Amino acid sequence: MLEEARALLKRVYGFDEFRPGQADIITGLLEGRDTLAILPTGGGKSICYQIPALLLEGTTIVISPLISLMKDQVDALNRLGIPAAFLNSSLGAAEYRTVLRGAAQGEYKLLYIAPERLDAPMFSSLMEQMSIPLIAIDEAHCVSQWGHDFRPSYRQLAGWISRLADRPLVAGFTATATREVARDISEMLALRSPNVFVTGFARSNLALSVAGGVDKRRFVRSFLAERPDQSGIIYAATRKEVEQVCDDLQKQGISVAKYHGGLADEERMQAQEQFRFDDVRVMVATNAFGMGIDKPNVRFVIHWQMPGDIESYYQEAGRAGRDGDDSECVLLFSPQDVQVQRFLIEQGTGDDDRRAIQMSKLYTMMNYSRTERCLQQYIVEYFGEADVAACGRCSSCLDDTVATDMTADAQKALSCAGRMKGRFGLTMVAKVLKGSRDKRILEMGLDRLTTYGLFRDWAEKEITEWLYWLVAEGYMRVSDGAYPTVSITARALPVLEGKEQVFQKRKEIKRRASTSVSAASSPLFEALRGWRKEAAARENVPPFILFFDATLREMADAKPQSHEELLSIKGVGSAKAQKYGDEIIEVIRAHAGAADHPAGKDQSSRTQRETLEGTEDQPSHLVSMALFQAGHTVKEISELRGMGKVTIEGHIIRAAGEGEAVDWPSIIPEGQEELILQAIEEQGIDKLKPIKDALPAEVTYFAIHGVMCKHDIR
Ligand code: ADP
Repeated sequence: MLEEARALLKRVYGFDEFRPGQADIITGLLEGRDTLAILPTGGGKSICYQIPALLLEGTTIVISPLISLMKDQVDALNRLGIPAAFLNSSLGAAEYRTVLRGAAQGEYKLLYIAPERLDAPMFSSLMEQMSIPLIAIDEAHCVSQWGHDFRPSYRQLAGWISRLADRPLVAGFTATATREVARDISEMLALRSPNVFVTGFARSNLALSVAGGVDKRRFVRSFLAERPDQSGIIYAATRKEVEQVCDDLQKQGISVAKYHGGLADEERMQAQEQFRFDDVRVMVATNAFGMGIDKPNVRFVIHWQMPGDIESYYQEAGRAGRDGDDSECVLLFSPQDVQVQRFLIEQGTGDDDRRAIQMSKLYTMMNYSRTERCLQQYIVEYFGEADVAACGRCSSCLDDTVATDMTADAQKALSCAGRMKGRFGLTMVAKVLKGSRDKRILEMGLDRLTTYGLFRDWAEKEITEWLYWLVAEGYMRVSDGAYPTVSITARALPVLEGKEQVFQKRKEIKRRASTSVSAASSPLFEALRGWRKEAAARENVPPFILFFDATLREMADAKPQSHEELLSIKGVGSAKAQKYGDEIIEVIRAHAGAADHPAGKDQSSRTQRETLEGTEDQPSHLVSMALFQAGHTVKEISELRGMGKVTIEGHIIRAAGEGEAVDWPSIIPEGQEELILQAIEEQGIDKLKPIKDALPAEVTYFAIHGVMCKHDIR
């Protein structure tokens, strides 16, 4: 059976190997076992039920809460040559009836349904006519109250399944479930002695980082300027903030869209489509955006604030890098974020039990924001995985700041908390350490503690931060419940006894040098992307439905010249090779032709090489300029000539200064000239750095030099 599954994986999807867990899950299903599969986002859950659906007689039902995702999945399946359809509220009455009829006649291998539809009378009678071997439940954590995204409509699933004449196999899939939630899902769905598969939660292509206490606007501007060709999401907590961040970026000339609950449906839909179709680069959104966004080439997810729990954070951040390419997840953290989350919990609709659960989740999230441990380890341990090695990629792992000995301050704080005997909240401990004259402190006689006022010179905010850090590192613990109190843990004892020291690093964001992704973008890759965008527009689907970036990149490397060669590329199955093969090969051939003549002139390879290196007659800077005039970008020229970008930019400016014709807008982007002139006037021209610093981050030195050259400012 597994051999057949493997053959389908290759023939239909164009993949050579199963990802971890996929083969086991599929084998289990084909052997007739109910299943609960917990795989990280991007782990490849869909294939786990799609391949069994293809091998089993009848129509597999897929329950999914995500309407937009259903359409994508069904589009993608149809494109792979698999008959599939969906039923949800986005269909018109006529379309709905057509799908019902098709389903009754057994035309589909997969039928996607929103859980709310299950009880519709029309649907119940349909079920009696259908042969259903398997019910796959996506986002299965929605059935559990202990999860972070409980949906009442999921609660009826078990009853509904049990009423089906022949109970089919049932399989639940989710990306985020602690052990507790996993047990709950199994019970709520009434799974029969299920095979439970938990593959690692670690995502080896994600570089996690936390940046505390940074100027968020500056941070985001320079982050985006460093990655001009990457697309990503910025999550903010409130609508107002979404609007502000979006406006700010727009003013910087960044291609950006916004998404939040306050916008009209149509506006939201449009923003989402623009992002999915690569028409805008950055999406600024509240957490309303993303359920069901299956855009695989999201290269970064930035959180403007800390979310309320690790599940939400990891789910949102996990939308980066679904295609497996290196991606970044940055959490911008400031201590006020905690107040906002606390407020949301207090104002929320849940009962006291629910509130207590949320509070304790919030503390775990706060600890994540402060910990100096490996961030990936921290998350996977939270989900119950043990013995995972440090990732080597996150901001903690890359933080080589020398730690400062903080033992004395730790002893003061811990001894104060110890004396307060776990009866007070963290703010009260901070107030005592500060020596506050707060009425409650005096009333309770806390000013008589020997530790009262030990941190008199510190700002109260600093004390609170320090206490939270001690919690994050496990020296103190915050209790669950609506009024959490702090107490010291066993880990604090050796510190208090002077047997162990405490070191703290000053937290500063460290990231890997910009990911390999942009480095890997070659002119041919760009040409293939251009083709994909056009072809996708013809069919009115997002570009990634045709091919992922990784597949195009592999094509750009391997340069296949025939359908057969094309089929050997990961992500190309027979249906796609047949449909798009000729066009792709044409793009590759045309590009090979163009690349032979970089300056657009007919030259033999020897003279071409000489031209690229520069000769006595043709000095090096004029060679660069000739290429620039022929329409090559600085990046392309630097690749062609094997020289640094800054050198090439210098060549172009020098040549322009010598009177070579130049297309100024290709050096000075629209709208920047005035800004730069103004900055030059204000800062003088002794040094360039102050001019650069006075300008928005995306104004480059190249543009500044360009303006100086154009206006003959020396
Ligand atoms: P999930 O639902 O778990 O987040 P998906 O099912 O959407 O993940 O799969 C994520 C991506 O991984 C998809 O683009 C899919 O085509 C790809 N993928 C799945 N299985 C494999 C595999 N065995 N080899 C290569 N790519 C795969």
